[in-house]
Amino acid sequence: MRVGSVSGRLSLFVNGGAIDVERTSEGRFDADPSAVYARWPELIDWAPTAAGEPQPFDAEELGPPSPRPAQVFAIAANYSAHAAEGGVDVPRWPAPFPKWVSSFAGPVGEIGLPSARTDWEAELVVIIGSRAHKVTADAGWDHVAGLTVGQDLSERDVQLRGPYPQMGLGKSFPGFSPTGPWLVTPDELDDADSLELGCSVNGEVMQQGSTADLVFSVPTLIAELSAVVTLEPGDVIFTGTPPGIGLTRTPPRFLAPGDELITYVKGIGEMRHTFTANGEER
Ligand code: ZN
Repeated sequence: MRVGSVSGRLSLFVNGGAIDVERTSEGRFDADPSAVYARWPELIDWAPTAAGEPQPFDAEELGPPSPRPAQVFAIAANYSAHAAEGGVDVPRWPAPFPKWVSSFAGPVGEIGLPSARTDWEAELVVIIGSRAHKVTADAGWDHVAGLTVGQDLSERDVQLRGPYPQMGLGKSFPGFSPTGPWLVTPDELDDADSLELGCSVNGEVMQQGSTADLVFSVPTLIAELSAVVTLEPGDVIFTGTPPGIGLTRTPPRFLAPGDELITYVKGIGEMRHTFTANGEER
């Protein structure tokens, strides 16, 4: 099942078109995509009976599948080859940081560059489908509504200016947390623990990896995070980026106005963003 947001309305994606859930369910489900995660098992039961005719839509109308989560986690150094390129040890425990919801954006569109040191980070993104506190890794997947594609866009000056790394701020400028094009339920994937992901800038491949190489897998992350916090339906986890960021290249390489960034996870879909100058002045 593919679920997401078209013009801010909860939609199922079928045969290349979109079915509006609120209208097709005659009001049983709210049009707001944020509201569905608290009733995720109900949607799973209802969706196969949805009788609406899929309607065409423009990619620019797509929004984040979970647009206003209560909590957003991102995981640093969660691929050993990315930890190595950043000069840090492979972590023994997950290293989460926040991305703030005001930085959310849809899967297609323009994003303003706040500086000349903005970097890409292609990531698999998890959306939580049921409350999780102190769950085991064996039960981790049971708490996942689905997976989507994400970019953990990163302004390296704010991130690294000190006295401590500022992951949260440096990665939360407007538009810096795009997700989409939709959520895909894990049952649709041949192997949800092994998904190719990556990104390209103007057609040049910058990152190409596999979630099979995650230091902490999706179910392990859910166990480790939920050992401390309570994960709520709709919460979003950016699971970390494979190697190939711009910061650690020789010379470093960053996004420039006019660049087109395509980010994908095979079996889920792709996002397409272009960048403009003076992001703060938009
Ligand atoms: Zn990241």
